[in-house]
Amino acid sequence: PITPTKQVWMDGELVPWAEATVHVLTHSLHYGTGVFEGIRAYPTPQGVAVFRLKEHMERLLASARILMMEVPYGRDELVAAAKDVVRVNGLDEGCYLRPLVFLGDGEMGLNPLPCRVRVAIAAWPWGTYLGEEGLARGVRLKVSSWRRHDPNAMPTAAKGTGMYLNSALAKIEALKAGYDEALLLAPDGRVSECTGENVFVVRDGRLLTPPTSAAGALPGITQDAVETLARDLGIDVVHQDLVRTDLYLADEAFLTGTAAELVPIREVDDRLVGDGRPGPITTELQRTYFATVRGELDRYKDWLDHVQ
Ligand code: PMP
Repeated sequence: PITPTKQVWMDGELVPWAEATVHVLTHSLHYGTGVFEGIRAYPTPQGVAVFRLKEHMERLLASARILMMEVPYGRDELVAAAKDVVRVNGLDEGCYLRPLVFLGDGEMGLNPLPCRVRVAIAAWPWGTYLGEEGLARGVRLKVSSWRRHDPNAMPTAAKGTGMYLNSALAKIEALKAGYDEALLLAPDGRVSECTGENVFVVRDGRLLTPPTSAAGALPGITQDAVETLARDLGIDVVHQDLVRTDLYLADEAFLTGTAAELVPIREVDDRLVGDGRPGPITTELQRTYFATVRGELDRYKDWLDHVQ
């Protein structure tokens, strides 16, 4: 369950948590016509800081643009609003932030263009998404029977709310079958992504990840950060199409996402990845990622937006 905080930013002002509500005829509630973000803030030696906040707000606006939603705020206003939310709620130990752009009530039917575009940003403390044990020992994946979106059926470059029906179906299937997470293939069979994370494979010392646009995966901000961290550690990173057996035969594999962070993959379809323990490159990148978001590495200070 979500731990409530004090205030939520809604349409330009801070409102009490319990009053951040909408009417049941909210357009986005019926048709999935919304776009959103998931962002994390972490405690650093200089106080709490939001990781790659500008990039997240840029992706939010890009998602809205794809859906022809005119957001009445610019990137910098959204950045300032997000920082306000962290500050007024006293979330000094870090938190998860959820900006949502949605269409309000007053119109029904499939034409979204007349609807009022509304924006909310909430924040609350949220522990690691796939659990402490997953983070330490790795998670078990199952290739889903659900395919990820065809980019001509759903705009995979957008983080659209309705698109997550596909993730929810895949997540239910994986959990009911006793796995931690689903690995989704694109309609043509290549590896796309997990329900809320991008995928990496380590093979012969190189890091491989699917090219997001061709694989119909969301271009992950954590994925991008981890690619930079890997290159800076001298590890080659290649965007390459993968098929499911590339995961079976990987030396190491892991997934990345804002909520999940960097999580080793222990098994895929009941096959151990490597020897089933997080490998050296995964461990090194995970350590470096946490040091980065926690402001311990000067080199990546530009990725942190301090709240005070
Ligand atoms: N793919 C999907 C489907 C996601 O929902 C997410 C989480 N936003 C990601 C990948 C990872 O993206 P990011 O690293 O920007 O959080």
